[in-house]
Amino acid sequence: MTTRSQPKLAAGHRTRPEPLLSVRDLTMHFPGRRRSSPPVRAVDGVGFDVAAGETLGLVGESGCGKSTTGRMIVRLLEPTSGSVSYDGRDISHLSQRELKPLRKDVQMVFQDPHSSLNPRQTVARIISDPLLVQGSSAADARRRAVELMELVGLIPEHIDRYPHEFSGGQAQRIGIARSLATGPRLLVADEPVSALDVSVQAQIVNLMERLQGELGLAYLFIAHDLSVVKRVCDRVAVMYLGRIVEIGTKERVYAAPAHPYTRALLSAVPLPDPAAERSRERITLLGDPPSPAAPPPGCTFHPRCPKAQEICRTEAPLLRIASPGEARQVACHFPEGA
Ligand code: SF4
Repeated sequence: MTTRSQPKLAAGHRTRPEPLLSVRDLTMHFPGRRRSSPPVRAVDGVGFDVAAGETLGLVGESGCGKSTTGRMIVRLLEPTSGSVSYDGRDISHLSQRELKPLRKDVQMVFQDPHSSLNPRQTVARIISDPLLVQGSSAADARRRAVELMELVGLIPEHIDRYPHEFSGGQAQRIGIARSLATGPRLLVADEPVSALDVSVQAQIVNLMERLQGELGLAYLFIAHDLSVVKRVCDRVAVMYLGRIVEIGTKERVYAAPAHPYTRALLSAVPLPDPAAERSRERITLLGDPPSPAAPPPGCTFHPRCPKAQEICRTEAPLLRIASPGEARQVACHFPEGA
């Protein structure tokens, strides 16, 4: 296998201090329906780092802005403001031509494998395409496509088949092979298993973990399923209404969530032990998330928060370290355990 060699990271040392990806104050405000309507604040000042070889999970309810954030990072969407730096270089304002060499380093895996693959192209063409764009010859690109099919667990003899001839899990393997074609260091995976059956989800998660170990990949893993995120991620960032409300190591966030929203999300995750499941407290949130076109003043979570107090209605809490000596950050005036 001639997969581009990348440093393997020893177990337990998957996080490096220097960020590969740095996102700062990233915003995406879509215009309102009418000229006079306020903008829709889909993403409203998001910031985080992802180190080489690390997996950061980006979680939250549907519509919280996590997928929009992923799409801005790979520049499928142009941010309204803020910056995205890759390997120390600000790439937020590069032209599409300037971005071309960087595209091989940062790739995306999409949610719905079948709709993200061109039904009129063979697997050979789908996987080869990013290489042809980067200037590879057709013969080299096809050779590489065969290698990548083996790498992701597909049968190379099926290279001239079309996407509809594959199951959902196999189609996602094709999508992953395509994303690996140029030897990226960072994959932005947008709900990569949520469209798949549970048993197939586990296979794709296993594959992604193996690839990370073999290729030293970093993942931004966008998902709403906190069980999957717990399994694959090193750190977790929780988004609500376009902002990060809690970010920290998986161990700390899952064992002792500090933001009321994180606590509510985690209280809905089924526990494997039936006795623990019966006895645990479920936190039910009031109502639906507000519209990002009209976010509430103060803490945007206050209309649904069981801990809300007067200050929460007027003053937006900053994302900051909740307890001394801890790297975990929380945007709450009254974080749990502070
Ligand atoms: Fe709840 Fe107030 Fe914390 Fe917001 S700042 S999460 S309303 S306690």
